[in-house]
Amino acid sequence: MAVAPPRTSHATHAVANQAQPLEDYNVFEADRPLVEAVSREGGNYAVDTITAVGEVAGRAETIELGRLANENPPRLRTHDRFGNRIDEVEFHPAWHRLMDVHVSHGLHALPWREPEPGAHVARAAAFMCLSQAEAGTGCPISMTYSVIPALRAQPEVAAIWEPRFTSLEYDHRMVPAAEKAGALSGMAMTEKQGGSDVRANTTSAVALNGGGPGAEYELTGHKWFCSAPMCDAFLVLAQTEGGISCFLMPRFTPDGERNRFHIQRLKDKLGNRSNASSEVEFRSAWAQMIGEEGRGVQTIIEMVNHTRLDCTTGSASGMRAGVAQAIWHTDHRSAFGKLLAEQPLMQNVLADLAIESEAATVSALWLARQFDEAHAGDERARLVRRLATPVLKYWTCKRAPSHAVEALECFGGNGYVEESGMPRLFRESPLSSIWEGSGNVQALDVLRAMVKSPAATQAFADEVGAAAGSEPRLDRFGSALAQDLQDTDGMEMRARGLVERMALALHGSLLVRFGDEAVADAFCATRLEGNWGNAFGTLPAGVDCARIVERHRPLAA
Ligand SMILES: Cc1cc2nc3c(=O)[nH]c(=O)nc-3n(C[C@H](O)[C@H](O)[C@H](O)COP(=O)(O)OP(=O)(O)OC[C@H]3O[C@@H](n4cnc5c(N)ncnc54)[C@H](O)[C@@H]3O)c2cc1C
Repeated sequence: MAVAPPRTSHATHAVANQAQPLEDYNVFEADRPLVEAVSREGGNYAVDTITAVGEVAGRAETIELGRLANENPPRLRTHDRFGNRIDEVEFHPAWHRLMDVHVSHGLHALPWREPEPGAHVARAAAFMCLSQAEAGTGCPISMTYSVIPALRAQPEVAAIWEPRFTSLEYDHRMVPAAEKAGALSGMAMTEKQGGSDVRANTTSAVALNGGGPGAEYELTGHKWFCSAPMCDAFLVLAQTEGGISCFLMPRFTPDGERNRFHIQRLKDKLGNRSNASSEVEFRSAWAQMIGEEGRGVQTIIEMVNHTRLDCTTGSASGMRAGVAQAIWHTDHRSAFGKLLAEQPLMQNVLADLAIESEAATVSALWLARQFDEAHAGDERARLVRRLATPVLKYWTCKRAPSHAVEALECFGGNGYVEESGMPRLFRESPLSSIWEGSGNVQALDVLRAMVKSPAATQAFADEVGAAAGSEPRLDRFGSALAQDLQDTDGMEMRARGLVERMALALHGSLLVRFGDEAVADAFCATRLEGNWGNAFGTLPAGVDCARIVERHRPLAA
């Protein structure tokens, strides 16, 4: 007779005092500052779409897709088994399912499909929600959204490609775009010898039939960074006799052959691992000129401005994810006999993170509204957007990494462990500051805009000044800044400091006018008046931390 093994005690495996995952909740509805901003900035007409995206974004299943897409990164297949070049990228099915969620909800195209007032705001809000589940898919989505205004510089080319880029069908087959239900766009500017300095591009373009806007060219050269190389077409820069020019380069030539667009290798990146970023070579690759010859930078900048908006929105999304996760975790974990979220010093950390996140959300959605109004022909919005885009891109993206670190630390050791999702959030956080113009480039762009367009400078000052008289600390901060902006001595060296203060003044003005009273008050005391330390969690006495945390709590505790 078999002897039963002794019963094992499981006492050492009892799981106690650990939080449950934050999942199966509506990412949009749980985010009060975002819900308010959508309504205030004109995006409410699409609230059903945003709510639907928020529901998908919070599903356990979607969060799991995000994990899978990042733990199973894309693989490059340069050749088939017979040695023919194919230049294809293979993705995990989770990537495709996430892409399908983006595209089917129109996150790549909403304002072009429905040019309603508030469409850029609605799209930005939905993008913020879905990016919290997975950020890598945002790259091709953002580029496809952003390509349209640049493409319209060449109306007959736009007439062919715009319906493909705005389709709600995600079709990832490697076949000519004309045979597909929908297409995606990428962008390739950066070369080995220079990314910020795109005028140093050496890729050359030779006209096939006389050349000029809309004409056919063959491009030869390389691109050191080309994200999402599985896209159906790319906006690229290349030199012609007339100077640097913009082109649309499809993956297939008009006769249905694979274009001479060769993917050399995929980058091994710090984060953003679900997304394929590659090095490519063009060997007499077929392309069409977009916009005027020699004005490539002016043409492609229309695309870049929209991706810069998404960098701002994406960083705000990362901060919101950090706040939601940190509050959720500390609401469920006790130490020294009390929930972490109830400990005064932890409340200080959470509230400080929440203030930063609210400033980012409020200003990102406000910026999206400027895009709506500028597209509708509003000159004030066009001017204010010129300065506010690099100002907010600079500062919001700069804040993301330190914010992510502090949110991660709220989890203690669990935050350093991959399964918590916090390491992925952290690895993602520096990226938006680098691409689409790194920090210094943004700061210098602000100076350039101020020199070239006093009207844009005035529009920015008017926006900040709209809160004048309501908050003395903001008034004092604004006056000192205005004085320092008059001093042009050594301005290039001082550019970061000035742009940071411009961002803080804009945040302050928006929060005082539209934000929560306790958040605005704490923002002014710390970020404007300097009653603050060098790390998050150094809010002064008197700040209503409990109220601020409650406002940002993703779900009732
Ligand atoms: C994951 C990832 C994906 C990318 N995807 C794409 C893509 O799809 N398409 C594409 O075209 N590019 C892409 N990029 C490239 C990205 O846009 C560039 O890396 C970026 O613009 C910086 O260019 P660079 O790398 O050549 O750096 P550099 O231009 O060499 O800059 C290095 C540093 O010098 C600073 N700097 C530059 N000029 C000045 C100045 N005048 N004064 C002071 N400081 C200065 C910059 O701010 C930066 O900090 C991607 C990058 C990454 C990391």
